[in-house]
Order: sequence, then C-alpha cells, then structure tokens
Amino acid sequence: GVQCGDMAPMLEEGDDFYTRRMFARIQDCFSRPINSAPDARFNVMEREEDKDNKWSLKSTGRSRPCLNLGSYNYLGFAASDPYCTPRSLEASRRYGWAQCSSTVEAGTSPVLAALESRVARYVSKESAIVYGMGFATNSSTIPVLMGKGSLIISDSLNHRSIVSGVRLSGARVKVFRHNDATHLEKVLRAAISEGQPRTREPWKKILVIVEGIYSMEGHMCNLREIVEIKKKYGAYLFLDEAHSIGAMGASGRGVCEHLGIDTADVDIMMGTFTKSFGSCGGYIASNHDVIAHIKRHSPSTLYAASMSAPAAMQALSALEILMGDDDSRGERGQAKIAQLHDNANYFREQLKSMGCQILGDEDSPIMPLMLYNPSKIAAFSRECFKRGVAVVVVGFPATDLVGSRARFCLSAAHSRADLDEALEVVREVSSRCAVRYELKK
Ligand code: PMP
Repeated sequence: GVQCGDMAPMLEEGDDFYTRRMFARIQDCFSRPINSAPDARFNVMEREEDKDNKWSLKSTGRSRPCLNLGSYNYLGFAASDPYCTPRSLEASRRYGWAQCSSTVEAGTSPVLAALESRVARYVSKESAIVYGMGFATNSSTIPVLMGKGSLIISDSLNHRSIVSGVRLSGARVKVFRHNDATHLEKVLRAAISEGQPRTREPWKKILVIVEGIYSMEGHMCNLREIVEIKKKYGAYLFLDEAHSIGAMGASGRGVCEHLGIDTADVDIMMGTFTKSFGSCGGYIASNHDVIAHIKRHSPSTLYAASMSAPAAMQALSALEILMGDDDSRGERGQAKIAQLHDNANYFREQLKSMGCQILGDEDSPIMPLMLYNPSKIAAFSRECFKRGVAVVVVGFPATDLVGSRARFCLSAAHSRADLDEALEVVREVSSRCAVRYELKK
C-alpha cells in the first residue's frame, strides 16, 4: 500500500508516560470483543495469553459466557424486550436505519418528535431536543448557551463530555470541589465579586453544572443544597442525568424525584438514552424558548445527521413503559425500577459486609470497589474474567493515580442467583488481590 510520511509528530500528544506504559500491558482488560447483547449474561470472546503471561489481542475464536457487571443496562431494556424490540424493528422498516440528513435538511421523523415531547413530559419540562449521541449532547449544547463574558462553575468530577463543552464554549470556568456545596458557594461568591477578567464587569450569566449520579463514584448529587445556592446567587443550573434518569426515583424520573425536588428548580436537564433506556443518544429538556434557541444554533442539530428512528423508537418505547402507556399500565416499569434498587442495595450491602471498600449511595446502580493501587487493575479484571464475571476496571486518567477501582453496574435484569454467583467470585478475587479490609477485633 501507499506509505504515509513520518507520523510520529502526530502521536506525540495524548499519551503520557503512565498511560503508555501501563495500558499497553493490560489491553486485554479493555475493549473486550463480545458477541451477544449486553444482557445480564453475555458472551465475551477470549484472547490469547502467551507463556510470558503477556496477553495478545488475538482472539482464540472461543467465547466465554459471562455474568455482565459492566454495562449501563440498568433496566434491562438493552437486550430484546417484548414491547420495545418489535416497535424498533417496525420503525427500521418504515423509516430506515438512518436519517441520512440533519433534522433541518431532509426532515424530522415523527418518532423523533414523539420522543422529544415524551421526554419533556417525563421530566416535567415544556420542551426537549434529542441528539444522536449523549456525548455530543453536552459538548455541543453548552457552547450554545454559554460564551465569552459568561461564567461556568463545574463540579471537579464532571464527565468529559461536559468538560469538552465547557472548553469549547469560551466561557470562563471555575471548578468546585466534588459535590461540596460550601465550596461551590465560596467559588461563586469570589467569582461574582471579581467580575469578568480585566474589565471587572459583572458576568453576563452564570451556569452551575452538576451530574445526578457521578459515573466514577456512584454517588448522588447534593442537589438540594446546590439548588439553594444557585437561587441565592441568581445562577442557572445544568443537571446531567445520564446515570440517574430511569434509574433513580420510584418512577425513574431521576434525582429530583428521589430527593423530592421540583424540576422547575433545574434550568437545563440533560440525560442520555444509552443507560436505562437501552438505546443511544441524549436529550436536553428546558422551557420552549431555550429549546427553540438550541435548535436554531446547536451545530450538532444543524450539521449532524439526526438520531436514527429505530434508536428513537427504542427510547420512546422504554419511556412509554415507564410512564404506564403500554399494556401493563405502569406495572412493568415500576417493577423494573424496584428490582434495580433491590439488586443494587443487596449487592452493595453484601460487598460491604465482606470488607470491600464500596462507594456510592443507596439505590444507585453504580458501585465502585476501591482497588487503589494501579497494579491491581489487571489482576482483578483477569481473575474475575477467568471465573466468568466481566467487570469494568478504571484507573488514571479517569481517576486519581491511586484511585484505581473496579466499577460494578447493576441491572434489573440480574436475578438474585446471578448476584450471589458474582459475589462468590468477588469474594475469592478480592482476597487474592488483597482488596478486603477486614477490621481486626
Ligand atoms: N454524561 C455522563 C455523565 C456520562 O457518564 C456519559 C457517558 N457514560 C455521557 C454524558 C455521554 O453519553 P453517551 O455515552 O450516551 O454518549
């Protein structure tokens, strides 16, 4: 083939010493090939281990049935569902797999319009816009709302899609200590009294950005106190509910429902369809004027192909189940959410009673088990995989250097037997990897 020139300068950015050395050696723990839907159990393809215990990425051709503790399939909608799947397949026949244009170019499918109005109703907002990708929902909406002369106050553990949106916006950014409302107030007050750089003029607008459930910690936003502060200082509030919509609150309406907070107190509500709804894409919900403004100005609406109709139908159908508009009149949806909470709370309590260091709040489907030492990442992942349990392990740069962890994601699709089987494996592997901290009597 035709050779490129010297590409080394292209590769200089991006890898630092740590990620280059560490992740090159443990690539088998990431991007594992799978060949089934991300249900409670799924098939993971095995890869070769050579005699020096160096793993290659070559498939052995064998697949291993595994318990899946890694997907964000919180309500079990990601695998085949008797209500969602036939409707999504029908949407693919009627509207095709892809829109092949942006919504403004060759039209908006009625499925997208239905999804937008339903998601707005679900979170009690006037209007919503949907995007084909959750990441782009954040990274392209924040710059539409904020720019030069405005101020963003961002939680230190906000997701990378938020960080990208904040950087692209050109607004001034200040970061507050994770979930610390007192620190938020301190940062906010100092920034207001300083005003804009050089001119010291007042900020055009101030936006506080937080998440409902933090994806690497599993715990919930301190929303009540944050709402008080944003009201006190006249700031706007942006809430990313990627991990909490569908999963928190008795009817899945997220952290506002869980904490008894009126969604009118949150100005911009963001969420994704990639977790609880088993689809892809994301949404922004707010009042009519804000959504109309975003639709007019968001580059991912104007210049990107819109969400595909089958994916939109999957999300719409899951929402219909949760809102009681399927044949079960709400029973299925509520039962799924209750099952998720039951599973999460059971699993968390069992892990804690084993002496594991577990983060995350009650009902939260995300459960990090702290490994701390980065050298334990590979051992923990490989030992679990050998025993038929697929877990996600996370290290720097997604966490601190010594904040390595395994992150379990629970699902309503897991049975109690699945959880007990996983707990036995975690008990054995956490002993081998010395990540249990039993208190000495
Ligand atoms: N926000 C948060 C908090 C997330 O965790 C994620 C991804 N897990 C996203 C946004 C991006 O969503 P998506 O994966 O749907 O693109």
